[in-house]
Amino acid sequence: MNLQAIVDEITATLRPQAGQQGQVASYIPALARVRADRFGIALRTFDGLEAAAGDSDVPFSIQSVSKLFSLTLGLQLIGESMWDRIGREPSGNPFNSLVQLEREEGKPRNPFINAGSIAVADRLISQGRTEIDLVAMLSDLAGAPIDIDEEVAASEAATGFRNVALANFMKSFGQIDNEVAAVLRLYFGQCSIRMNCRQLARAAGYLCRDGAHPGGGAAVVSERQARRVNALMLTCGTYDMAGEFAYLIGLPCKSGVGGGIVAVVPDRLTLCVWSPALDVSGNSWLGMRALEMFVARTGLSVF
Ligand code: GLU
Repeated sequence: MNLQAIVDEITATLRPQAGQQGQVASYIPALARVRADRFGIALRTFDGLEAAAGDSDVPFSIQSVSKLFSLTLGLQLIGESMWDRIGREPSGNPFNSLVQLEREEGKPRNPFINAGSIAVADRLISQGRTEIDLVAMLSDLAGAPIDIDEEVAASEAATGFRNVALANFMKSFGQIDNEVAAVLRLYFGQCSIRMNCRQLARAAGYLCRDGAHPGGGAAVVSERQARRVNALMLTCGTYDMAGEFAYLIGLPCKSGVGGGIVAVVPDRLTLCVWSPALDVSGNSWLGMRALEMFVARTGLSVF
């Protein structure tokens, strides 16, 4: 299968449509000014072959894609006890909802909604880690220096009232051990990490390699943990569209409001698509089309 020809074809077909449907996230200025006509795609096979096209080298705000990596760091550090305070079920509610959290006494449904990722951040702080450790982990996985966009981080902190509420709400139920300010610094920092499609396809490589490091370093997580992260991505990784993603694409995916989506074909490859205009669910509209097209061309799907 000529993967470069496939990503070239996807890009030639879809790039002209970039920005024609959906809206770029506008809740902070740094995201609102990203050009809607961007489209990038990159993939990396389990044995290190790479293919990329379009704006695959343009960095973007990874936003909620970071939730995947903070969970990974948490699993490395504390293993299964991660699940003492975080569930593993789809929420069926908006990613930043407070309502469900009240009914469920401050225990977030899963690590990929905001409350869940804030709870993961709390576990990381308890292990002496900060956003700097997450950036270091990503730099190691991607084989390139990764950084935080400080303008985005400052805006996230200045406007993240709902995240502040979620963190305090969980703390009121005794579900957050550390200072809310420190937990949120990590959370806002992780949302503000910038990476490009190539780097993300590489960094997520352990998910198609049974947990093995994409660059040949020490195992990132165990085979079992990698399988479980993939399961969570499939069921909870794309806001309220996980059912639709499973139906149309059939791959574990994690998306973010920066317009990036990371997808995994277990034992084969990892893929990252980016186009900043989002559909109403918060997923990249064109990114979703690109994944559909990729699966149609390659027949690669977990089903
Ligand atoms: N940074 C935003 C927040 O935490 C959005 C993250 C996302 O869903 O991509 O509210």
